[in-house]
Amino acid sequence: MNEASTIQPVTQTESVPFRCQLCGACCREVENSLMLEPMDIYQLGRLLRKRGEPIEGLEDVLTEYTHADLLMDCLPIFLLNTVGQDHACVFLKDGRCDVYEARPRICRLYPFSVAPGDCGKDFLYCLCTDRPHHFTGAHVSVKDWFHQNFFKDARQFLKTDYDALPVLGKAVREMGAKRFERMLFQFLFYRYYNYDLDQPFMPQFIRNTEELKKLAVEAAKGG
Ligand code: SF4
Ligand code: SF4
Repeated sequence: MNEASTIQPVTQTESVPFRCQLCGACCREVENSLMLEPMDIYQLGRLLRKRGEPIEGLEDVLTEYTHADLLMDCLPIFLLNTVGQDHACVFLKDGRCDVYEARPRICRLYPFSVAPGDCGKDFLYCLCTDRPHHFTGAHVSVKDWFHQNFFKDARQFLKTDYDALPVLGKAVREMGAKRFERMLFQFLFYRYYNYDLDQPFMPQFIRNTEELKKLAVEAAKGG
């Protein structure tokens, strides 16, 4: 699950020999490579809170389990922390994912992944070929894999996000570093913090994203 993975496009009609051997290799050597999306953080927050961790909002998950970085040299993002000499994901415990039911989308889809589509398609489907040892055994249908692991809410989230990120990136670049510094808290608030864990995610994400786009575009115009 490394962003530097070698990836190649696949179509829904293809099938790939794949058998997970539960070796945990894809959860190791992942320093600075596991970006959490707002939906991932929300789902982790709900699971960790249910387990009794002191999680009141998404900011508690971010503080405890992530560190900040920049996407496209301008957009603040959060990456999962790693531990140990093998730079294992902070959630890898005894060789198993400790948050399996709420694991991030990138983990859920691996060894496949998605990227923004073209020619009117919402997504480009890809195969990560960085760890050849698991391409063995029975064939897995690409269509079935995405049907079983890329749920409707994740598709809706990602499509909304793919539409919003270029708008935000352009606005942030146009407003320049000083003006962005002034709106940084607002950016973080609407992108990552302004969620109620007891309310459904998507309506909150859509509302926050619309507000953030409006603020960023106004700031880029000098407002
Ligand atoms: S997906 Fe591959 S690397 Fe990850 S645990 Fe399974 S076999 Fe190991
Ligand atoms: S969240 Fe779970 S599946 Fe994803 S890298 Fe961490 S331990 Fe592995």
